[in-house]
Amino acid sequence: MTKTSSHTPIHVIGGGLAGSEAAWQIAESGIPVILHEMRGVRGTDAHKTDGLAELVCSNSFRSDDATSNAVGVLHAEMRLAGSLIMRSADANQVPAGGALAVDRDGFSNAVTAALESHPLITITREEVTGLPPEEWDQAIIATGPLTAPSLAEAIQARTGADSLAFFDAIAPIVHTASIDMDICWYQSRYDKVGPGGTGKDYINCPLDEAQYNAFIDALIAGDTTGFKEWEGTPYFDGCLPIEVMAERGRETLRHGPMKPMGLTNAHNPTVKPYAVVQLRQDNALGTLYNMVGFQTKLKYGAQAEIFRLIPGLENAEFARLGGLHRNTYINSPTLLDRSLTLKGRPGLRFAGQITGCEGYVESASIGLLAGRFAAAERQGHAPALPPETTAFGALLNHITGGHIVSDDEPGKRSFQPMNINFGLFPPLEPGTVTKPEGMKRFRGKDKAIAKKHATAARALDDCARWLKD
Ligand SMILES: Cc1cc2nc3c(=O)[nH]c(=O)nc-3n(C[C@H](O)[C@H](O)[C@H](O)COP(=O)(O)OP(=O)(O)OC[C@H]3O[C@@H](n4cnc5c(N)ncnc54)[C@H](O)[C@@H]3O)c2cc1C
Repeated sequence: MTKTSSHTPIHVIGGGLAGSEAAWQIAESGIPVILHEMRGVRGTDAHKTDGLAELVCSNSFRSDDATSNAVGVLHAEMRLAGSLIMRSADANQVPAGGALAVDRDGFSNAVTAALESHPLITITREEVTGLPPEEWDQAIIATGPLTAPSLAEAIQARTGADSLAFFDAIAPIVHTASIDMDICWYQSRYDKVGPGGTGKDYINCPLDEAQYNAFIDALIAGDTTGFKEWEGTPYFDGCLPIEVMAERGRETLRHGPMKPMGLTNAHNPTVKPYAVVQLRQDNALGTLYNMVGFQTKLKYGAQAEIFRLIPGLENAEFARLGGLHRNTYINSPTLLDRSLTLKGRPGLRFAGQITGCEGYVESASIGLLAGRFAAAERQGHAPALPPETTAFGALLNHITGGHIVSDDEPGKRSFQPMNINFGLFPPLEPGTVTKPEGMKRFRGKDKAIAKKHATAARALDDCARWLKD
């Protein structure tokens, strides 16, 4: 039974991190919610309880530093927006240095109790097996990386075979500013311009024979993460992990993603590189580049160590490392509008990890936005989008528009889930960060920290203003 309100309820499918937050935001704005959660009648391969917002793995919400860490900024913005997930996390903290870690049962119990006792929320324990019926005129699908198969099939049937991915084959993404351009150079293979290109669209890292061999040795010896049983997804063509390619033969990579053909080292034009690692622009801002063809199952520590052997990447900072794991997510940049609504189906939104964000906090924050947008529409207003300078806005922009689809690798796989990071924020206005008085040299680490502080402060100011309007 729907609880009392003059409004028709909004349906939220999935009571995980995103769905719980979405339901809370809707109900807090005075609109009734029906939250459909299948656990209780059907489990997933990772969840262990029937509690809402269960944390399936780590108990950490990562850094709580809102001055120099992007996820810390997202925490702060969520607190400003009255997030239930953050309130429950804060109330169930366990010691974890600068990170926000929680007692997982206490946290999930707090979320469940708050939702169960809210006068405008009704929780139904059932699996939703298809797209929401038309009579659910406002609905949010927040069924996560382990969306039950029949709903996943229905989403795929509606959006097209290429629009739904079932696992990530992720290549590492590097902060552009950390690439050494005294060693690397911009050039597209054979200077190909292509539609929208300039002939200089890639960053190239040259390796000589000894460097290439050392790199292959390190790859083969590198520590890999094991696929869990339930992740028994086969590799598919064109997406082999690089260490698997390296194991197939010393020259395999040099004839594959590391081929040097059509490239001339701008710093040393007369010497042909033995192999080349290419990085391609990953976001519209140009602050992030991904390592082309470098999907990998290597452990994170091993990845950072091995990839820093590549000339030009010695000091690379990674916005995300590579991976290969089960994950259901849609091709949001082409399927969703800016307010997370499925194009061609007004009133149907997606939220959480299924939209292509990554992580507990990011998923909850996209749930928060979807909930607010749906509630605004129910009240007859256009959803107010967060400024792109906020962590909310930067993440929303990544999902719904900031990603670049490359011409030589079109289709779903070029959009990969990502955690929030400063590379997703628009650059600061020139002159925002200036040398502090009395400081002799202002570059390197000091300047990077000052930039983070300024980006974080701008985000929080703009978020507060957005929430007030
Ligand atoms: C194995 C694994 C480990 C992970 N480890 C981490 C980690 O350590 N740290 C981190 O930040 N992130 C981790 N993630 C990512 C994490 O799952 C997400 O960040 C987060 O839980 C996603 O939130 P969500 O609300 O989108 O999905 P979920 O939290 O998974 O919630 C989705 C909910 O929808 C329900 N549901 C699914 N299908 C249906 C249906 N048809 N009808 C009704 N209900 C349905 C599910 O039961 C679930 O409760 C991990 C993911 C996986 C799969």
